[in-house]
Amino acid sequence: MTQEKRITHWVEGKPWTGPAARQGEVFDPALGTVCARVDYACEADVDAAVAAAGAAWSTWRTATLSRRAGVLFDFRAALLRRRAEIGAAITAEHGKVLSDADGEIARGLEVVEFACGIPALLKGQFSESVSTQIDVTSIRQPVGVCALITPFNFPAMVPLWFAPIAIACGNAVVLKPSEKDPSASLLLAECWAEAGLPPGVFNVVHGDAVAVNRLLTHPDVRAVSFVGSTPIARHVYETGTRHGKRVQALGGAKNHMIVTPDADLDAAADAAVSAGFGSAGERCMAVSVVVAVDPVGDDLVARITERMAHLRTGDGRRGCDMGPLVTGAHRDRVTSYIDAGVQAGAKLVIDGRGADVDGGEDGFWLGPTLFDNVPPEASIYTDEIFGPVLSVVRAPSFDHALDLINANPYGNGTAIFTTDGALARRFQNEVEVGMVGINVPIPVPAAAYSFGGWKSSLFGDTHAYGPDALHFFTRSKVVTSKWPRTATPAARPDLNFPGNR
Ligand code: NAD
Repeated sequence: MTQEKRITHWVEGKPWTGPAARQGEVFDPALGTVCARVDYACEADVDAAVAAAGAAWSTWRTATLSRRAGVLFDFRAALLRRRAEIGAAITAEHGKVLSDADGEIARGLEVVEFACGIPALLKGQFSESVSTQIDVTSIRQPVGVCALITPFNFPAMVPLWFAPIAIACGNAVVLKPSEKDPSASLLLAECWAEAGLPPGVFNVVHGDAVAVNRLLTHPDVRAVSFVGSTPIARHVYETGTRHGKRVQALGGAKNHMIVTPDADLDAAADAAVSAGFGSAGERCMAVSVVVAVDPVGDDLVARITERMAHLRTGDGRRGCDMGPLVTGAHRDRVTSYIDAGVQAGAKLVIDGRGADVDGGEDGFWLGPTLFDNVPPEASIYTDEIFGPVLSVVRAPSFDHALDLINANPYGNGTAIFTTDGALARRFQNEVEVGMVGINVPIPVPAAAYSFGGWKSSLFGDTHAYGPDALHFFTRSKVVTSKWPRTATPAARPDLNFPGNR
């Protein structure tokens, strides 16, 4: 039996030593056994973390830009040093295969590298002589204590979307990671400490809705970045803004990939399989619907089926292609969607239930599953499943396919596979989705751009990382100043609204 460990909070640069009134189980999904217990913060625990962050912020906000950049460079070095250890922790608690865990660290590192440029990124603007002897300058200042609330599916990358830029901007952070795979957040905390970040600037509280709701209502939390499912994102946005905070809340997804008859079908089939089943479909940018434009359907489904036959499902530590689902409850939920899809009349081409796996007998297994001819009213089409279930929908025309995407309540990511440049251009112009791939299945923006969806996939008006993050994690201030070279001759006060002359 795997030995259980206790996972606790990280406050003021060190592990929490207080007791825990409540704890939750953390599983190794490939074995199906409990590998740790994680403390669930009560309101007082959250208050202690916010107080530590507030105290640290009062000093960190004055740290010079070169000092902040120095910490970011050293944090990057620490992440590189401990990369394998972080990847192993992700695989042990999330289940994704080791190479995929490493891939999420790589994408997180890109954001750290962006944040290393903070001295240039935070430059303000200056206008000389906007009026007689009057100059204007704009500056960006940190907002204060920022709460980051993150999902289970990217336990390192999503915290790295936010914390490096928030900290580089001069803020202090309280991270509330997913209770399902909490260990990566503590390894990040250790990396910050190794990088010389002052204690209290980066804190971690573990737990559930109790911790989240305290962060959303705490008077000293100024900004909240959330990533998770749409219902919780909506709750976080509404509660946080009602309590006077700036909030960005990234929600769920139902990503469609259109394949037109002129497309390179081998490339499209490769893309559908890798974007549909990578990380067992537990990605917000996973492709869950392939829209095959007539008459490409039969050929495309045959090529996808052929590729799926070679996928190996099993323990992520054994070099398999796809790991287990994160918990038994989630696996059962995804399985119930397969049952519902069959009942709704969709054609089950490959059934992942009972698939052969290379892993523990009690692991949370479900093999890659493919449905064809999925009716748009079936729950496998309408709902976010977040598992290894790929649906093919047949569309009579490109216009029909585009309408399908635009009618969907989600708008996170989408892709088109085509060799028709004019059609691709029309797609990028008319599709109501925040991140668009053209012959690219998972169009996660590079770190110098910002990440975010439209419609029910994001609440708030700024996206994650990139330029939007600089805006989100700072407040702007504009200073209008007058330094006359000679004393102004005495005159009557002028009560008119000042114009620029
Ligand atoms: P989730 O919504 O269950 O949990 C997200 C966070 O909210 C966790 O920290 C969790 O502890 C907390 N939480 C859960 N229930 C809560 C409640 N009732 N009140 C307050 N807080 C609560 O999401 P998840 O299952 O961890 O992650 C998967 C979801 O995240 C999927 O819907 C996926 O699409 C989405 N996601 C979106 C993006 C994006 O960029 N849009 C990225 C990654 C994941």
